[in-house]
Amino acid sequence: MQTLNFRIVPLPTEVAEAAREQANAGAPDHAVMTVDSPTGYPCRHCLRWAEPGERVILFPYASVPPDRPYAESGPIFVHAEQCAPYAATDEYPTDFRSHRVLRSYNSTNDMIDAVVLGENDPEKVIAELFENPATEFLQARSVTHGCYTFAITRT
Ligand SMILES: [Zn+2]
Repeated sequence: MQTLNFRIVPLPTEVAEAAREQANAGAPDHAVMTVDSPTGYPCRHCLRWAEPGERVILFPYASVPPDRPYAESGPIFVHAEQCAPYAATDEYPTDFRSHRVLRSYNSTNDMIDAVVLGENDPEKVIAELFENPATEFLQARSVTHGCYTFAITRT
């Protein structure tokens, strides 16, 4: 696996833990579901597909902060049980090399570019998006559903 000059940023552990607490408390916007497909439920904390039979929580997450035009809150999954945060932060996550779009944002959280990934080119696309000095961070999202998957920053 190629070593990258950028950093993969999974969902913070405290956000995953808060979601589990909210789900256990019965919050109506935190749905607990049992996985029924091997590639339908990406956990944003360990950055793997949750496996059939595992339980996940579906809840809204503000991947782009409020008070700007591109502010956005959308649905994401995390494992309902504790999982390890994605650790190989200098490697693009194997499970999400395809069916993703990379969106680039500037320092005021405005979207300035977006590229749909092919099967084998995430590292190349990331490098190209960061060639623009205005690019502050990237977000990987589902190409079909648009859901936030993880962020990428410069090292
Ligand atoms: Zn997980």
